[in-house]
Amino acid sequence: MLDGRRSARLLAAALLVLGLGSGMLAQTGGNKAVGADDPEFARLVKEWTTRPEFSSPLVDHLPKVAGLPSPKDVLGHHIGEPKKLTYYADILKYYRALAAASPRVKIVTIGRSNEGRELVVVFVGSDESIRNLEQYRTYLGQLADPRSITPQQAAEIIAKAKPLYHLSGGLHSGEVGPSEMLMELAYRLVAEDSPLIRQIRDQVIVSITPVADPDGRDRNVDWYYKYGINETEGRPAGAGVPYWGKYVFHDDNRDINYSQVEMRSLLDWYFQYHPPIMHDLHQAQTLMYTFSGQAPQNPNLDPILYGELPMMANFEMAQMAKYGMPGVWTHGFVDMWSPGYLAFMSSNHNGMIRMYEIQGFSGANTQKVRLGDPNGSGANGVTGAAATGSGRGSAPDAAAQAAGRPSTGSGQGGNQAVREWYRPWPATGEFDWSLRNNTNYGQTGVLTALQYTSQFPKVILENFYVKSRNSTETGRREAVAGYIIPSGQRDMTRVERLVNLLRMQGIEIGRATSEVTLQEGRFPAGSFVVKRDQPYSRLAKTLLERQVYPDPNLRTYDDAAWTMGLMSHTEVKEILDKKILDLQVDKVSEKEIHLAGKATGAGAVFAVAHFGSTNMITLRYRLKDAKVQATEKEFSEGGITFPAGSFLVHGDASKVRPAVEALGLTAVALAGAPQVAAHDLDLPRLAIYSLWSGQATQDVGWVRYALDRFEVPYDLIYKERVRKGDLKSAYDVIVLPNQGGGSGKRVVFDIEGRGQPIEYKKSDAFKNLGVYGESDDITGGMGLGGVAEFEKFVQAGGVLVTLGQASYFPAEFGLAPKVDAARTSPQFYSPGAIVDADILAPEHPIFYGYDRKTIPVRYANGPLLTVQTGASPFEPPPPGPPPTPAGVLMRYPGGDDHVLSGLMRGANEIRNRPAIIDQPSGKGRVILFAGNPCYRWQNFGEFNLLFNTILNFNDIKPEPARPAPTGAR
Ligand SMILES: [Zn+2]
Repeated sequence: MLDGRRSARLLAAALLVLGLGSGMLAQTGGNKAVGADDPEFARLVKEWTTRPEFSSPLVDHLPKVAGLPSPKDVLGHHIGEPKKLTYYADILKYYRALAAASPRVKIVTIGRSNEGRELVVVFVGSDESIRNLEQYRTYLGQLADPRSITPQQAAEIIAKAKPLYHLSGGLHSGEVGPSEMLMELAYRLVAEDSPLIRQIRDQVIVSITPVADPDGRDRNVDWYYKYGINETEGRPAGAGVPYWGKYVFHDDNRDINYSQVEMRSLLDWYFQYHPPIMHDLHQAQTLMYTFSGQAPQNPNLDPILYGELPMMANFEMAQMAKYGMPGVWTHGFVDMWSPGYLAFMSSNHNGMIRMYEIQGFSGANTQKVRLGDPNGSGANGVTGAAATGSGRGSAPDAAAQAAGRPSTGSGQGGNQAVREWYRPWPATGEFDWSLRNNTNYGQTGVLTALQYTSQFPKVILENFYVKSRNSTETGRREAVAGYIIPSGQRDMTRVERLVNLLRMQGIEIGRATSEVTLQEGRFPAGSFVVKRDQPYSRLAKTLLERQVYPDPNLRTYDDAAWTMGLMSHTEVKEILDKKILDLQVDKVSEKEIHLAGKATGAGAVFAVAHFGSTNMITLRYRLKDAKVQATEKEFSEGGITFPAGSFLVHGDASKVRPAVEALGLTAVALAGAPQVAAHDLDLPRLAIYSLWSGQATQDVGWVRYALDRFEVPYDLIYKERVRKGDLKSAYDVIVLPNQGGGSGKRVVFDIEGRGQPIEYKKSDAFKNLGVYGESDDITGGMGLGGVAEFEKFVQAGGVLVTLGQASYFPAEFGLAPKVDAARTSPQFYSPGAIVDADILAPEHPIFYGYDRKTIPVRYANGPLLTVQTGASPFEPPPPGPPPTPAGVLMRYPGGDDHVLSGLMRGANEIRNRPAIIDQPSGKGRVILFAGNPCYRWQNFGEFNLLFNTILNFNDIKPEPARPAPTGAR
C-alpha cells in the first residue's frame, strides 16, 4: 500500500519536473534568481518530517539563491525545526529582509494592533506584478464595481488583470504553524524556478497577513518557551495562556462588526485591493480540512460561489492524495451560514472565503496523535494529548465545536479516522506529529490552491466580476428591493451606529431628500436608504434581514442570527416596492457619519432625555465631576417628553452643551430642576471579575471592550483580589461577565490544579505575559473562600451582577438563595437566536430608556432560572397559575412564535423563564441575567440593561410579586 503511495508521489514529482503545461516553460519571468537546492534543508526537513507520506514533492526542497535571504539566513533555522517558534518582530524582520533583497516582494503597513504592533500585508509576485501593483489594484477595483464599466471593458480588464490571492496566518494565535510556514512560502515563491512556481508567480499576486493577531502571537510564543517546550507526554505543562489578543481569543474570527483594530485594519485594506480570494489558515483538524462551504448555506450568496468552493477544495484533496498525503478532507466541518468569519469579508464582497484546518499543536514540540477506532463512535476519533490546534487548556475552534457538536454526520467532522465520501483517505492509527509536518501540509495545500488559481486566473477574475454584477442586479431581480432606516427615530445614536457599521463594510447608503411614500409606508426626509442595486446589495440583505434558518435539523458552527436592526433595537424596514431604486437620495459619502445631538434652552439645569442611547453612560462619565440625577418619572419641558431615567445635569453649560451634542443626545437647559422625583447618579466603584481560563477572559474581554468604548472605568479583578477579602471597601458593583461554561463550580474552581503552580507574570524573558493581570498560579479558582468573600460583599451592600452562564454561580452557591438555575434538555439548541423578552417591571431603573414592553434579545445557552415562591418547599402551591415571583424583572415568553431570527430548537423550554432577576440579599443585591446583555460587539440594544444597572446601582428598590402572566403554563 505504502509502495503504491510512494510511486504516486514519484509520478507526481515527475509531472512537476516535466512542467504542467508546455506554455509554462516559456514564462520565465524577469528574475535571474536561480539556484541549486539547499542540501541541508532537504536533509533536515526529511529528519523533522515524522513519516515520508507527511511531505510532498512541492516542499521537500528549497533553492539557495545568492543575495536572497532564506528564513534560515535571518532566523537562524529552517522553518519547522522542532522547538522553534518565531516572535512577531522576527517574522517582520524576515519579510523586510526579503523585500529589501527582491523586487518580487512589497510590504505595506495597514495599521497598528491593540498593543501597538505594526500590521502589514506582504505582496509577492513576479517582478512585473510587483512593479505594476498599483495598476493591478486598479483593475480589481474596477471589476469590484461593475457599474463603472461595460461588459466589453470588463473583458478587456480581465484579459490584463491578475487575481490577488490573500493568505492569512495567526488569526488564532495559539495555532502557531501557518505563520511559520508563510515565511517559507514567500521565499519559495520568490526564489524557486520550477515550472509550477513560475506559473504561480506570473499569473497570481499573492498577499500575506503574516500574523493576524500579533499581540496574541507573542504571548503564545512566550507561553510556549516558558511552559510548552517542556511538555512531554505524561507530563502536561498545564493550562493555556490566559490571553491571546487584548480582548479576545478566537472571537477575532467572529467579529462581525469589525470592532477589533486588527480586523478593521484588514477590512480597510480590503477596499484598497479587493482580493477575489481570502484564505485563513487555522489548525484544528486531522490532518487537513479544506473548507467547501457546506450546509447550512446562506442563500443570499451567489450560486457561482457555491460552485467555486468545493471545486478548489476537491482539487486540493485530489492533488494531495496524488502526492501520497493521507488525511486531507473537505465538507463536514465549518458551514456557510454566519457571515462573521474574518475571511468572509471576501465572500461578503463577491469574492471567495477559504479556510484550512491543519493538524497542529499550540507549540513546536513533536507529539503523538492517536486516531480512534475507525469503527468507533468517538466525537472526532482523536484522542491523546493535544490532538487538536491549541492543546489542552486553551480553546480555539474546539470551543465552537463543543458548543455545536453534531449528532449526525451533517455537522462538524465526525470520527476523523473514518472514511466518508468527503474524506476518502482518512489518517488512521497512531503517529508522531511535528511542526514540520504542519508546514508541509499547509504549504502543499496553499501551493495547490495557487496552482489552481494560476491555471484558471481568468475564470477567477470573471467570476469575481460576474458575482459583483449579479449583486448589483438583485434589487430588480429579487423580491427585496432595499431597506429604509427611518429618520426621526427616538434615539438617533443607534441609527448613526448602524449606518456607520454598514458604511464600514462598503455598503452604499443615501438619505432621502424629501418624504418618501412606498407601499410599505411613509418615511420622513433624511431617512437612510439602502438600495439593492449596488455591488454589496447581497451583504446588505444578509446583515439586515431576519435570518430564516434553512433546516432546523442542521447545526451551525457559529451564530444562527445577527439581524442588525433587532440586535441594536433600531427600526429597519424591508422594502419590496421597486420604487425605492429610483428614489432621490443624497449619497452618504463619509465613511462615518455623525448625527449631532441637540441642546436647546438656557438655564442652570440640563434635562437630558434618556431615549435609550448607549451614550448616556458616556455622558455621565464625561461629566463625572458634575452633579447628575436620574428622574424617576416621565415629565415634559420645552416641548420634549423626558422619559423616566432622563438625566438632570447641574453643571457648567460650556461643558455640558458640547458633551450632549457630541454624543448625539437631546437636552433642554432649564431655569431650575423640574418637579419630578429624582435620585443622584453616583458613580460606582466598579470591578469586572474574570476567571483565568482563556474561554472566560474572552467573554470578559467583550465586556471590557464595551466599557472601554463607552469610557466607563473599572478594575479588572481575579481570584487573587477576591481572596484578599474586604471587597466592599473597594467596590460597589462587581460584574461577572458570561463565564464558567455553564457551571457554577467552574466559576468557583476554574482551571483544574496541576500539582504545580502555573504563573502568568511578566519577566525580562517573557515580557508579553502578565499583561491585563498577573497571577502566581492561574489554577484552582477562588475556591469556597472566594465564595464567602462574594457573600460578604453582597451582605455588606455590594451589587453583584452576573451575566449569562455566570448566573449559575449565585444560584448554585447560595448567593441568591431563592434562585435556582437549571439546564436545558439535550434536545434544546439555540445558537444565538433572537427572541422576544417581556419587561415586567418597566419602572425599574434597569429599563430606563426602553420604551417598549417587549424587546428583542439574544438567547444562547444561559441558565433556566426560577425563583422559589412560598415560605416552605413543603407547602402546597396555591391553586391556579402561579404569580410571577418578586424580583423577576424580565421574562421570555418562549415558544416558536417568539423566535424573531435564527434558530431555536425546543423554544418551549424557555417559556415564561426569567430573563433578569433582582434579588435583594443583606444590604446588597444580586442581579442575574439569563442571557448575555453584552455579547461581542453586537447586541447593542441590550447594553443599556447592564449600563443602567451600573449607573443606578444604589437606587434600586425591591420589586413586588406580580400577577400571573396570561396564558401561563
Ligand atoms: Zn482557528
